[in-house]
Amino acid sequence: MPDRSETMRRDPVDLDRAHVWHPFTQAGQDPAPVEIVSGQGATLKAADGTEYLDLISSWWVNLHGHAHPAIAAAIAEQAARLEQVIFADFTHAPAARLAARLADLLPQGLDRVFFSDNGSTAVEVALKLALQYWRNQGQEERRRFAAFSGGYHGDTVGAMSVGAGSGFFGAYETLLFDAEILPFPETWDGDAEIEEKEAAALAAARRFLDAHGGEVAGVIIEPLVQGAGGMRMCRPGFLRALKAAVRDAGALLIFDEVMTGFGRTGAMFACEKAGVTPDLVCLAKGLTGGFLPLAATVCREQVFEAFLGPEFDRALAHGHSFTANPLGCAAALASLDLIESEDSLARVEAMARLHRERLGDLATRSNKVSRARVQGCIAAFDVAAPDGGYTSAVGQDLKRFFLERGLLIRPLGNVVYLMPPYCIEDDELHRAYDAIAEALRYV
Ligand code: PLP
Repeated sequence: MPDRSETMRRDPVDLDRAHVWHPFTQAGQDPAPVEIVSGQGATLKAADGTEYLDLISSWWVNLHGHAHPAIAAAIAEQAARLEQVIFADFTHAPAARLAARLADLLPQGLDRVFFSDNGSTAVEVALKLALQYWRNQGQEERRRFAAFSGGYHGDTVGAMSVGAGSGFFGAYETLLFDAEILPFPETWDGDAEIEEKEAAALAAARRFLDAHGGEVAGVIIEPLVQGAGGMRMCRPGFLRALKAAVRDAGALLIFDEVMTGFGRTGAMFACEKAGVTPDLVCLAKGLTGGFLPLAATVCREQVFEAFLGPEFDRALAHGHSFTANPLGCAAALASLDLIESEDSLARVEAMARLHRERLGDLATRSNKVSRARVQGCIAAFDVAAPDGGYTSAVGQDLKRFFLERGLLIRPLGNVVYLMPPYCIEDDELHRAYDAIAEALRYV
């Protein structure tokens, strides 16, 4: 037997360097990872005692702060009762209650919940549901999908296919199915050309749908904010017009609210803020308050009904070992309670005001800031750089600059953004903006 005590004695970062493969990381050049040992509120504590203010909610998942005692207690209580049970032929109260609460919170008509494990699987399920919905009704010709340039929907094959417009997946191109990538009318504060961009984007969507609408199963979009593509924002009116175009083509509209869900944009869901009820919604990330991996694809009852019948062939042949894991569902119920009891939406609105004030100020003082934009707790701007895009060198420099000052801010290339947990204090947010102002003097 290998000597376990040796492993337990060794520095975790050494062990990590020897054995762990990290996501979205060029291990050949990136520095060793920081070992985090605990978290409280918006602060993460490293093994060497350094504190990091988490301004990106640990990849957009954390809502109420790290190690929040109410969610930790809900998970512990559930773990002592039932940690997991097969979700085919069986159910449990946390899943049933969570499904009912999601249906209550989402716009009317979105009533049926399929659970999975993460944002990518929530999207994968939405694509499979849309495809089979038509197949089950004898419309097998409806098998194409349309998505948007700059859109990102996750890293599984279907999600990558509709996320081809994000530019991340060159290495996997041969795996992907062909999706139509439509223009996205990205806008920012003071954008004088937004009307023209929206009209052009809508005309392109209409042109595609007029020509091919009968072959389209679904159109997928991140509503109001495209995340990984660079925190690119659009206006609610565009989503309403898109909904009309998709409806006229008879296809399904899929909102990927993996990032925008649970209050990020100032409303519980971006679809509510936009005044659009899609046919399917994908949820993950903030669903459990950022504690456990859990996702949901929620659809209209009419979609679910198309899968009913005597033959198994009509059923959705999809499931994961941990579908509707009770611990995740208990965490999600506790997180939904906190959104209410801590009045998270009001907190997000207050954060949006602070963002607008400080970002507006940065934009007027520094000619390196362009395309300043705010949507709820999300604030972003582009930094003038010779090389734009995700691999822009300025992003790596800024990341290091912020880390050295105890700030977890991880630019998407030359796009700097903040998306803090709702518990962050105003003075903590001001500290971040002060550091950004300082950074801009050096880039
Ligand atoms: N969809 C959107 C809009 C996302 O932002 C992400 C992740 O960033 C995903 C899907 C994929 O989620 P996950 O990383 O949980 O698979």
